Formats: sequence, C-alpha cells, structure tokens
Amino acid sequence: MTVVIALANQKGGVGKTTTAVNLGAGLASSGKRVLIVDSDAQGNATSGVGISKADIQKDIYDVLINETPVSETIMHTSHEGLDIVPATIQLSGAEIELTPQMARETRLKEALDQVKDEYDFVLIDCPPSLGLITINAFTASDSILIPVQSEYYALEGLSQLLNTIELVKKHFNQNLKIEGVLLTMFDSRTNLGVQVNEEVRKYFKDEVYNTVIPRNIRLSEAPSYGLPIIDYDAKSKGAKTYMNLVEEVLERHAE
Ligand code: ADP
Ligand code: MG
Repeated sequence: MTVVIALANQKGGVGKTTTAVNLGAGLASSGKRVLIVDSDAQGNATSGVGISKADIQKDIYDVLINETPVSETIMHTSHEGLDIVPATIQLSGAEIELTPQMARETRLKEALDQVKDEYDFVLIDCPPSLGLITINAFTASDSILIPVQSEYYALEGLSQLLNTIELVKKHFNQNLKIEGVLLTMFDSRTNLGVQVNEEVRKYFKDEVYNTVIPRNIRLSEAPSYGLPIIDYDAKSKGAKTYMNLVEEVLERHAE
C-alpha cells in the first residue's frame, strides 16, 4: 500500500523541503520506491535533488492546469529509487488559474492515483501557504507531516493549519491524518530550543517524533550541490538524524 504524505506548514523556512528531500532519499536508501512531488513554485525540492531547470519538459503546473498525465512529468534523480515531479516558477500562477476550474481541489489526487501504485511513499512538498495547491496536496494525502522550527512563535499559525486540515477532512478526504510533527533546526545550546521542544510536545503529545533535527550547516550546504544529505555527507549530524527519522516513519507504517 502506498503512503502519501504532505509536508506542510504555511510558514516558510521551517524545513519542509529539507525534510521532503532527505526523508525521501533516506526512505529510498532503505529500499522503498519514493516519489517527491514538488508543489512549490520556488522549485527548491527539484533543484535540491539535482534537477536543473533546463532539463524539465513538463512539471506539476501542467498536471494541475493542463491535465498532463503525471507519468509524463516524473524524472529520475541521481539517488537510486528516488523520483520527482518537478516544479518551476510557472506554478506561481496556478492558484489563480485553478480558482474558476472544475474539480479544482481534487486534481492532484486524481493525477497521483494514476501512478501511486508504483511507489511505496509519495511525499508532497507544499508551498508556504494554505491556498488551493496545499488543499490539493491534503486532498491527495493519507497524512500530513508538520515540520516545526525550534524558534520563537513555533506554534503560531498552527491552529490555522489544523483548521485547514479539518476543512479538507470534512469536504474532501475524511481519512486524512497527522503523520507526525517534526522539530527542526534545533539548537541545544539555547534555552529557547529546549522550551520550544517542551511546548510542542505538550501540545502535540506523541505525535511529535523522538527524532529532533539539529541546526546543521551540512544540511544547508547540500542543496547547492543538488544532493540529499546522505549523498553529500553521510557522516554529518544532519544525515544521521534524518536517518533516525526514516526509521521512525517506517516504524509507524510497519504492518
Ligand atoms: P521550507 O521548505 O519550509 O521553506 P527549507 O527546508 O527550504 O524550508 O529550509 C529553509 C532554509 O533553511 C534552507 O536554506 C535550508 O537549507 C535551511 N535548513 C533547513 N533545515 C536546516 C537544518 N536543520 N540546519 C540548517 N539549515 C537548515
Ligand atoms: Mg520549501
């Protein structure tokens, strides 16, 4: 059974894309067949797995707006077992173009249903908003993984995110669940990080992963080489903690 997970938090810069790329690569290294769906016009997941713009023929925009079959957009990456549906800046107009269209909330789901049997995990990297593209991602997903940055106001905005999840459950996808909450960019040297960790655990309880991703310079360098962290620096703290996350995710999905 394929598991479709959306990585979402309407705040930018909390680690959605870093988690999509590195969880995706880690799952692939564990022998799983993984598809990342880049649904952010910034295309950071696309470049993060080493796909250059010049090589992209069709992207997620064509899937959502032109009803191009998703199979025509899938690209292999240099990491074995890891494929991607790329995004380009073209996607930035899609929210407005989708608004008057039929079945505008279910387009991604319908598209992914055509290919998802070929994968064990599909990870949808969401944009930093709660607009129609994120709604499409939630409608297409089994669950949502929420990265939370260990910073001031970590919990701010999460009630809107949870409200959106409830709305999608009510109208489009009644089985939608929370996959887990991941603390990212944790700095153990500050009291703040420790406080945020406690606060998030108090609120989300055992939905929070035991794994906490530290702030790690290697994680921020890897995207400019177009490599997941395990291919860039497998010995780094970032690589080790993302592999711990992979274990936890696999445990939560063990039969
Ligand atoms: P989002 O997709 O939520 O906007 P990103 O994953 O793109 O967030 O992360 C924002 C920035 O922070 C990127 O430059 C990324 O390389 C960097 N980053 C993400 N996680 C870490 C980390 N654990 N340590 C250091 N830098 C990180
Ligand atoms: Mg991103």
